Amino acid sequence: MTDQRIYNFNAGPAAIPLQVLKEIQGSFLNFNGSGMSITEISHRSSYFDDVINDAVTRVKRLLKLDDRFHVLFLQGGASLQFAMIPMNFLLEGDTADYVNTGTWSTKAIKEAQIQKKNYQVVASSEDKDFSYIPKDIKFSKNAGYVHLTSNNTIKGTQFHEFPDTKGVPIVCDMSSDIFSRPLDMEKFGLIYAGAQKNLGPSGTCMVIIRQDMLDMANENLPSMLKYSTYVSKNSMYNTPPCFGVYTIDLVLKWIEEEMGGLEKLEEYNIEKAGLLYDFIEASEFYSTTAEKFSKSLMNVTFRLPDVDLEKKFIVQATEKGFGGLKGHRSVGGCRASIYNAATMESIKALIQFMASFEKENK
Ligand SMILES: *Cc1c(COP(=O)(O)O)cnc(C)c1O
Repeated sequence: MTDQRIYNFNAGPAAIPLQVLKEIQGSFLNFNGSGMSITEISHRSSYFDDVINDAVTRVKRLLKLDDRFHVLFLQGGASLQFAMIPMNFLLEGDTADYVNTGTWSTKAIKEAQIQKKNYQVVASSEDKDFSYIPKDIKFSKNAGYVHLTSNNTIKGTQFHEFPDTKGVPIVCDMSSDIFSRPLDMEKFGLIYAGAQKNLGPSGTCMVIIRQDMLDMANENLPSMLKYSTYVSKNSMYNTPPCFGVYTIDLVLKWIEEEMGGLEKLEEYNIEKAGLLYDFIEASEFYSTTAEKFSKSLMNVTFRLPDVDLEKKFIVQATEKGFGGLKGHRSVGGCRASIYNAATMESIKALIQFMASFEKENK
């Protein structure tokens, strides 16, 4: 812990690299010699232009995106994307495939349903309480897109490989594992991520959209609800979430310059999650809830022998400076969210605490 900061295992909003927070703190009253805070600067100024352009450039470099891809920053969170996706891409007679791997996928499906769009749920892991990622999925030939949730924040499962959709573009909710690993972007027509897990503060949603998806999108929509508006105005049709974009830019800089890019970061994430899973699996006190090959590297969900012990565990953990370990209110249990910004030091400290709690309570 530094300066009384806790070990932060929050699911979202979640930990931001300390270095980034310090940089924000240091320049908060006078951004780049402007004499203004980043929160006071016009989004039409060259100061902010530099920020958003730098963020876009870094995203493109990290994911090796060519000119077909547009990087956008929207508001409304990932949840607005649930609605915008069917709204933009499902025109009269079109259909889409959805894979249901948990709460967030279910919400995405619901938004297509509300709009009375054609869609099919081609696979679901609901039969086993969303504890696994479905395999050997049969996709429709005529789908406009396949919607996936790459990491299931609440249930602690993750796609470690993306399915072969036979050329149908994948539209993917990557809110809780964006930039945790390299991606083969050829498969994706659109990816989106609410910022508050792996990118920065809440209030911003990053969207990456490929030109061919844009070409088939519905243009007959309100300006704020169609992607083309954001593409044509570099995300600044109206006032963008300036502070969010600025923080994301600093997080991206941290990924590139401090963490050494996505390959390195993936190795680090595998190492961090591996340490925690190995400890839990070796214990007879703690148990994981996700199936073996579906375990998330970002959200480690686990149980104790009973609910009372879980309550006691959370209370004592909080007293000792470990925050955010309570499972999502819909599922209970415990969850350690270990996004990019979680340090190896914090994981080791957590394991030490878990081991001593086990000793005292088994
Ligand atoms: C947190 C989360 C969301 C919801 O994001 P909002 O920005 O609150 O709308 C959606 N999908 C996934 C996978 C998430 O983790």
